[in-house]
Amino acid sequence: MANSLCYDVTMFDFFRSIWYEFLSYFVPEKVSYEITGQCKKCGKCCNYMYSVDTYTEKEFKIMQFLFPAYRRFYIKGKDEFGNFIFACKLVTKEGLCSDYKHRPAMCRNYPVKRIFYPAKLHEGCGYKISTKTFNDYLNDKNK
Ligand code: SF4
Ligand code: SF4
Repeated sequence: MANSLCYDVTMFDFFRSIWYEFLSYFVPEKVSYEITGQCKKCGKCCNYMYSVDTYTEKEFKIMQFLFPAYRRFYIKGKDEFGNFIFACKLVTKEGLCSDYKHRPAMCRNYPVKRIFYPAKLHEGCGYKISTKTFNDYLNDKNK
């Protein structure tokens, strides 16, 4: 009986090590962020947006074709580095969403907890983001 328990624990450890090994390949993508605070309804995130994968107007049109919900967005201009700045046609002058019930998932989930690039909020945004580092994960695990 004791041997069987020993065997189970060893097998469990073995599978757990394989699982951790598998997860280790995704560590860079498992950076997560602690989000605190709340929306102040300033409308900045609806008026000034960046996209990580849209560099030309053609790409933007393709995105809108593939994802009709993105048709509410338009190119507002470019920043000093030449990156597009997008805005939403549906934000009111007061900074509120005029289509709140049907806003896309990206708006519902903003700001997301798990993203693949460094998070940055608008100045004055009511939310605060703190990065959870690899050491934070280790410390959590050792508690
Ligand atoms: S920038 Fe921040 S505070 Fe302003 S509307 Fe967006 S989430 Fe809310
Ligand atoms: S759909 Fe609403 S919440 Fe989303 S960007 Fe437009 S105005 Fe903002």
